[in-house]
Amino acid sequence: MPKILITGAAGFIGSHLCDRFIDEGFDVIGMDNLLTGSLDNIAHLFGHEHFEFYHHDVTKFVHTPGKLDYILHFASPASPIDYLKMPIQTLKVGSLGTHNLLGLAKEKRARLLIASTSEVYGDPLIHPQPEGYWGNVNPIGPRGVYDEAKRFMEAITMAYHTYHGVETRIVRIFNTYGPRMRTDDGRVLPAFISQAMRGEGLTVFGDGGQTRSFCYVDDLINGIFELLHSEYHLPVNLGNPDEITIMDFANEVLDLVGNPDAKIIHKELPIDDPKRRKPDISRAKKILNWSPKIDRAKGLALTLPYFKQKILS
Ligand code: UDP
Repeated sequence: MPKILITGAAGFIGSHLCDRFIDEGFDVIGMDNLLTGSLDNIAHLFGHEHFEFYHHDVTKFVHTPGKLDYILHFASPASPIDYLKMPIQTLKVGSLGTHNLLGLAKEKRARLLIASTSEVYGDPLIHPQPEGYWGNVNPIGPRGVYDEAKRFMEAITMAYHTYHGVETRIVRIFNTYGPRMRTDDGRVLPAFISQAMRGEGLTVFGDGGQTRSFCYVDDLINGIFELLHSEYHLPVNLGNPDEITIMDFANEVLDLVGNPDAKIIHKELPIDDPKRRKPDISRAKKILNWSPKIDRAKGLALTLPYFKQKILS
């Protein structure tokens, strides 16, 4: 049976990865320091014969007993308010954590896939964003702690690939949503849905003209699974190219949740907030034969019951 270590296992994407790899017949070690993750996301896996949980911080030396075939590095604070609250941890998990996992991958001859991000493109000057674009990042701005950690993560991963022959894969993840997101992580989708359900104002930052493109989590997990098993070591964007302004998205959520008390209120636009973001997914289509299958209407319908249960119960 192949054995896989998944860091950030108690997080939103990490927990979905644990489920998928168990379903695919892997022995899964989930690792998390529970800084932003929650055991609720993996509670259903405790006691499963092919799942083990290690409560560990990957910025400290990482060891797993016996053989290891694959590593997925998904540990990191990942929402703007989280990494603003935890800047040092964010820098460390992307840098020291990645270094430790590359060392482990080298030792075990395991294949390592790292979770990079559309944030490597910063506030992009090219639209949509292809992997060949080097980005427009402010290294000392508030988002720099995340963006530069992830850029360093890509650099050290490529170095281990080139100089030590470690098998590596790099996914650049664009905005993703679905069940198990934290309702209070500050990201736009949990914020709007929670606010609409509670009958509060939907906090649109700035004039709401900035855009994002939202991918349903199951599509992302399919892409990661394909990338891990591909023979391609350069970065691959995964995301849904269906771009929408934040204002239109707020109205969409208002219509969907249908709470007459919920209205839109404007707040100040955060510093360095990217104005437009949309993945160019030509590479994923070509290399992985992957494209997202779940549109926003369907994805939101699959997500709302989770938020209802979290917020209204
Ligand atoms: N945003 C907003 N209201 C909120 C949270 C976010 O208008 O309550 C905006 C934010 O300024 C950004 C977009 O929504 O333009 C997406 O923000 P998010 O925090 O989800 O992630 P990002 O894509 O910026 O990393």
